Amino acid sequence: MPEGPSIVILKEEVKKLGLEGQIIECVGGNTTIDKERLLNKKVLDFKSWGKHFLICFDDFTLRIHFMLFGSYRINERKESLVRLSIGFKHDELNFYTCSVKFIEANANDFYDWSADVMSDEWDHNKAIKKTALKTDTLICDVLLDQNIFSGVGNIIKNEVLYRVGLHPLNKVSAIPKSKLALLIKETRIYSFDFLKWKKAFVLKKHWLVHTKKNCPLGHPIEKAYLGKTNRRNFYCSTCQKLYE
Ligand SMILES: [Zn+2]
Repeated sequence: MPEGPSIVILKEEVKKLGLEGQIIECVGGNTTIDKERLLNKKVLDFKSWGKHFLICFDDFTLRIHFMLFGSYRINERKESLVRLSIGFKHDELNFYTCSVKFIEANANDFYDWSADVMSDEWDHNKAIKKTALKTDTLICDVLLDQNIFSGVGNIIKNEVLYRVGLHPLNKVSAIPKSKLALLIKETRIYSFDFLKWKKAFVLKKHWLVHTKKNCPLGHPIEKAYLGKTNRRNFYCSTCQKLYE
């Protein structure tokens, strides 16, 4: 699944093409939204909020959410059915297996950028406060809560929990305050490392536990579907502490 940093890469790629300010000349795809509405509209900006890719127009925003299996192609096409295709004078954006939706608002009015781990407006203290309120929730679920950690997906969750030595089954209330602050700080740091490594095609090389058999210290990695989110967790019960 594309996590926040992957959407930042998409945003940077389309910005590099200089598509801001350009007019949409053709649309296609099997989406059920009124895609013709995009015709002859000028794109004002491309933004991202966590796993949402946003195309901004003067009076509405188009939200593309890649869900679990979404993907995109720029100036090329996949064999599979395209959900939404947007054509400009010289360039074409194609989106697959994603959710497409119109938001009848300016993205700045609709989204809380302070909750996006990749945003310049990310608010560390606000994230601590929001997390602390989730007393009985497991930390492996809280990290995937897009209202607190927008952009964090399963890979970031697994890697960050290992890096700070926290077992995924810790309840928020059991985690020492300083450890919680460290976790939140590392989540942002790791997200930017993820971005840097993904751009250099070396992301997997840096995984310490995700899909691994042993942790860097040689202990066996456990794999389990945990929490309400029921997502795959890879963790080391020796290196990652479970607080009482
Ligand atoms: Zn270990």
